[in-house]
Amino acid sequence: MPPAPKQRATAPRRNRPKRGEGQWALGYREPLNKNEENKKNDDGLNVRARIIDIYSKRGFDSIDPADLRGRFRWFGLYTQRKPGIDGGKTAVLEPEELDDRYFMLRVRIDGGQLDLAQLRAIAEISRTYARGTADITDRQNVQLHWVRIEDVPAIWERLEAVGLDTTEACGDTPRVVMGCPLAGIDADEVIDASPQIRQIYDEHIGDKAFSNLPRKFKSAISGCSAHCTVHEINDVAFVGVTGPDGAPGFDLFVGGGLSTNPMFAQRLGTFVRPDQVSEVWAAVCSVFRDYGYRRLRHRARIKFLVADWGAERFREVMEKEYLGYALPDGPAPEEPRDGRRDHVGVHRQRDGRFYVGFAPRVGRVSGELLDRIADIAEEHGSDRVRTTVEQKMVVLDVEAERVDSLVAALEAADLQVNPSTFRRQTMACTGIEYCKLAIVETKARASTLIDELERRLPDFPAPVTINVNGCPNSCARIQVADIGLKGQLVTDAEGRQVEGYQVHLGGAVGLDSGFGRKVRGLKTTAQELPDYVERVLRRYLDGREGEETFA
Ligand code: SF4
Repeated sequence: MPPAPKQRATAPRRNRPKRGEGQWALGYREPLNKNEENKKNDDGLNVRARIIDIYSKRGFDSIDPADLRGRFRWFGLYTQRKPGIDGGKTAVLEPEELDDRYFMLRVRIDGGQLDLAQLRAIAEISRTYARGTADITDRQNVQLHWVRIEDVPAIWERLEAVGLDTTEACGDTPRVVMGCPLAGIDADEVIDASPQIRQIYDEHIGDKAFSNLPRKFKSAISGCSAHCTVHEINDVAFVGVTGPDGAPGFDLFVGGGLSTNPMFAQRLGTFVRPDQVSEVWAAVCSVFRDYGYRRLRHRARIKFLVADWGAERFREVMEKEYLGYALPDGPAPEEPRDGRRDHVGVHRQRDGRFYVGFAPRVGRVSGELLDRIADIAEEHGSDRVRTTVEQKMVVLDVEAERVDSLVAALEAADLQVNPSTFRRQTMACTGIEYCKLAIVETKARASTLIDELERRLPDFPAPVTINVNGCPNSCARIQVADIGLKGQLVTDAEGRQVEGYQVHLGGAVGLDSGFGRKVRGLKTTAQELPDYVERVLRRYLDGREGEETFA
């Protein structure tokens, strides 16, 4: 008789129930990690009252650590990095050893839309409370630094007086809703999405229905024919299309994001009418809130859920469980009109006036410079400026006869309207100057790189994006740049660990979408960065055929 088969000690792996990922909709309501526990203990939005009533009056040392390193983000506040701590210590020090007693404060600017009173309010806050600092981010926000907790209520009061705020500018919340800076004025746009951005802001930002998401939630809504809001890498994006009956509306994309697991958003193939955008946005956000993975922070973004489910299932759950009706199928967006999405330069608006896009250096401005921009715009008859998703700005509504004078005034302030490729297309994240996650410096180095490349390769003939990041988190989009630089420590010729970058080559969004290739050994020290990039660009020029792009 043959021996009885051995009993397995455990069931075969395929029959075991799958381990829960912390999805609320599947009953995992007990917090599975420290962040989830903090959010369950108290809603992040409740910290505002404590900041006003307690912390701003009693000072930094009175702040509860769970608020300081958690809930403060719900109002755009992060402690900044203590000066002088090198990047090698980032991963080994405790959070309290990295914390400075000052804050970065992020002002949300939905759609990048500012009038001059708002611009001047930010400038005044920068000068009065933030040592003159101001950075335009690649999500159209403005970040201030050196903010003291004592000054936060006064800053909020000043912002709110002009219709701005910092609510849900950071944290596991719906962050700023990005939009085309030319919404409503561009002759080529499919639809002006400003009303939809405003409606989402009014109806859902600061609503406790969405203030405890598994992770951050990034939105973009645009009818821009150049696809300037990079819908491919947002958690949710509405992209302008012409619907089946000839009226404009939106196509819907979900699940894009970069960081350490980059994924492009998937198209759901629905047609969303303009009056449906806010409720469809809320439905997508609700699916994420209830089915998103809360067990592990690094798997919590909506992109992981969308990757596991696929577009079809996501759409079905959204429609059946949240919307209560099926959306019709719709057309895909037209291809973007060209490779540049930044709206830099002088261009005609559809009303015959002009808009003028200009390039500060890697988004770094100052309170003084923002005031100067407001003065220049006003002197030339404009009351509206915009921030772009590439750390640039645009002045709207300039009459033809005043364009030359406006351009001259901007350029005199080193705000270039006709920049080199390198000034125009280099971005840098915050980096080690202020960011506690950083390993290397970024802004100053990117600025030097621009100078060096302009000197060594004058009149460079092709668009090339160079994105400089201080760590793998990809705030300045490492993987979708022609040359993406990821900050890390590298070994130099003498065998020392020094600041440097891993290089990703050939990434792009738009017509040639794809993530840059990260070839082993493609690294450079920070000191050798200009030489390295120059070599890469010369090889591209030598080898390219016709108008062949870098990607
Ligand atoms: Fe900080 Fe890293 Fe983001 Fe740069 S990429 S801002 S260093 S977290």
